[in-house]
Amino acid sequence: MSNQYIIQPDLTFINEVVGLGGDTLKKCFQCATCSVACPIAPENSPFPRKEMIAASWGLKDKLVGSADIWLCHECGDCTALCPRGAKPGQTLSAIRSYAISEYSSSVPVVGKLSKMVTDPKKLALLTAIPAAWLALMAIITMFMGGVMEKIFHVIGLHWYHVTDAPIAQARFISTWLVDMTFVPVFNISLLIFAYTLYKMLSDMHANALAEGKTDKETLDYKAYFNTIPTVLKKVLKHTQFNECGENKNRGTAHMMVLFGFIGCLIVTTIGFGFLYVLGKPGPYSQWWPFKWLGNISGIAIVFGAVLMIKERLGKPDLNAYKDWYLLGLVLTLGATGLLTQMARLAGMEIATYAIYYIHLIAVFHLFAYLPFSKLAHAVYRLAAMTYAEYANRK
Ligand code: SF4
Ligand code: SF4
Repeated sequence: MSNQYIIQPDLTFINEVVGLGGDTLKKCFQCATCSVACPIAPENSPFPRKEMIAASWGLKDKLVGSADIWLCHECGDCTALCPRGAKPGQTLSAIRSYAISEYSSSVPVVGKLSKMVTDPKKLALLTAIPAAWLALMAIITMFMGGVMEKIFHVIGLHWYHVTDAPIAQARFISTWLVDMTFVPVFNISLLIFAYTLYKMLSDMHANALAEGKTDKETLDYKAYFNTIPTVLKKVLKHTQFNECGENKNRGTAHMMVLFGFIGCLIVTTIGFGFLYVLGKPGPYSQWWPFKWLGNISGIAIVFGAVLMIKERLGKPDLNAYKDWYLLGLVLTLGATGLLTQMARLAGMEIATYAIYYIHLIAVFHLFAYLPFSKLAHAVYRLAAMTYAEYANRK
């Protein structure tokens, strides 16, 4: 006697995936062209055909906890060849957005941010929070310097972190206050990722065992972490992106943004060292090599973001808010970072501080909302690719 399965479709899941950009998924008639066309789908249980049918049946649990949805790099080859115009690449992207929302909304206390970050009506509120906080920090810096100096003196620290330069961002918002804001926010985001990744990895392994996609009986975390360097090399080389046919150029833009952010991270770390270890506050000379790295990184981010926006504008059907939020944020971060410095070098004090204020608001968006926005895909995809490598997904 054959086995009988009872399928219980999750209609809310289907509607949400449709709303997140998977509006064409019902057109799929399971021809499997997409799975054959995909340059990176594994031979055993390839994607995205099986994801298309699971999504149209509303099998949320089968999809949200699957590593396969993250292995797709949204190259668009399958979408270009689908005879039904079902756009499987976009449907997988919508499922990934749903998965980010599902995991991040399970985080205690701050989980509510998940729905807010994907709702365009909440953008003003999400921006007003850091805007008000940073305005308060600016008022403290500019008008309460004497009080703060006394407080810091009591605890054996120097309040101001500036040289004799006539214009310095630290005269507008103290470096102390900037770091006392962003270091905790960033660390909270790391904790949120630790919480969600732990759940996600357990789900991925359970899914891989159930679908015969791994030969590992148990999830060995030590072996998993040892696999990260191998996968990181692939990510940095953009090996998967280079296998794309349809949207090969996206790989270049993606690489510019990724290396731009890595460059900025290195420069920020060096800046921390100069300030807190060597006691040398900025602004630093343009002749210092780490300033060159910062400038090149900023330019790479801006160019990469502009290329991505240009590509999106050429595809009016790709109009999901989550994508535009991310692209807008990346461009704002890169552009305001560069413009702050240009305005300072041009001696434009008010413009320097105004642009710097916008830059800090964007940085807050980046750090505080990272685990809830599409940008979280960078972390989740690395986790899933590492799992696939560890689990011998072939
Ligand atoms: S998404 Fe398109 S190509 Fe893929 S199985 Fe469905 S109809 Fe075929
Ligand atoms: S978008 Fe590209 S990587 Fe993703 S499933 Fe389609 S062909 Fe494969």
